[in-house]
Amino acid sequence: AEGRESQPHLQGVAGLRNAGGSCCVNAVLQSLCSSSPLVEHFLSGKYLTALQKNMPLFLPRDCSEVATTFAYLMTDMWLGDSDCVSPEIFRSALVNRYPAFMKKTQQDAQEFLIYVLNELHEALKKYRRRRSYEKPSTQRCCKKVITNETSIVTQLFEGQLNYNITCLKCENCMYKNEVFTVLSLPIPYEYECSLQDCLQCFFQQDTLTWNNQIHCSFCETKQEAAMRANISKAPKIIVFHLKRFDVLDTMKRKLRTNIHYPLTNLDLTPYICPVFRKHPKYNLFAVVNHFGDLDGGHYTAFCKNSVTQAWYSFDDTRVSEIPDTSVQIATAYLLFYSCQPFSIPIQKCKSQDDSAS
Ligand SMILES: [Zn+2]
Repeated sequence: AEGRESQPHLQGVAGLRNAGGSCCVNAVLQSLCSSSPLVEHFLSGKYLTALQKNMPLFLPRDCSEVATTFAYLMTDMWLGDSDCVSPEIFRSALVNRYPAFMKKTQQDAQEFLIYVLNELHEALKKYRRRRSYEKPSTQRCCKKVITNETSIVTQLFEGQLNYNITCLKCENCMYKNEVFTVLSLPIPYEYECSLQDCLQCFFQQDTLTWNNQIHCSFCETKQEAAMRANISKAPKIIVFHLKRFDVLDTMKRKLRTNIHYPLTNLDLTPYICPVFRKHPKYNLFAVVNHFGDLDGGHYTAFCKNSVTQAWYSFDDTRVSEIPDTSVQIATAYLLFYSCQPFSIPIQKCKSQDDSAS
């Protein structure tokens, strides 16, 4: 490889220093740094409007600090001229909020991602005016839960599952909705399988027996039931968590299954409720890898840059361009897919600056 020093610094391609055991934080941050619509929200300053509106409600050491330091970090990574950036200020804002969580020697990237997204949502949420009616055309089975809080996080990452539960005695049908920001998928095979296998396993019909029986309002007792999930709201960015950490007879173990996932055109049509199949094809833009065992493992990230359209490997401060063929890897732990092509976040910001001046 040619020396990167001789090349101009690429926007959105910056290494992150490791502040001691923070490879998990860094891998998740790289994935978010390649989520262009999220980055654009921060670089353009749009987040400030939401933040300032909520400001009077906040106490010191609150989530607004997390959002502000996240904005600084994204600015450094996208608009700074250094090949390497320190996430320390962002990290200490998080430590202030949740000292116990951040002290954990080995963090889980999935937990950490949810936690960062929650913090950003809390800082930036707006209250939506509640609609007093529901669209009569919407089928009952796929009713969308109308949440009254919205933020850039919910707009991009929030999806909704609909559970269709049928009492096996009287065939009475019940529905349950659940929102998600990360979809945790079971791994059905030990050595090799495809992402579609994991999805099929997650969305297949399940029978609720024994302790999992449900209360049937028609039978008025607990009954066995058949349950099936589908996606009633597909998020613009869908994150899959591959459940590699498994508990088997109280023993924790890691599944090292080589899971094959497509880089483009992941089709979610079979799992999306028919009424909501708007953009069922998804393209991969980031992968968080986990190497090693449960304790003392190491995280890295592969991310696609929206400027160069090339993939890069991020291992803390080490950054290298990788061919598309290297993106499929047996260590994948989190997969980030988008149903829309990304624009370059800084282009929008520049044009806004121009119009302002
Ligand atoms: Zn029943």
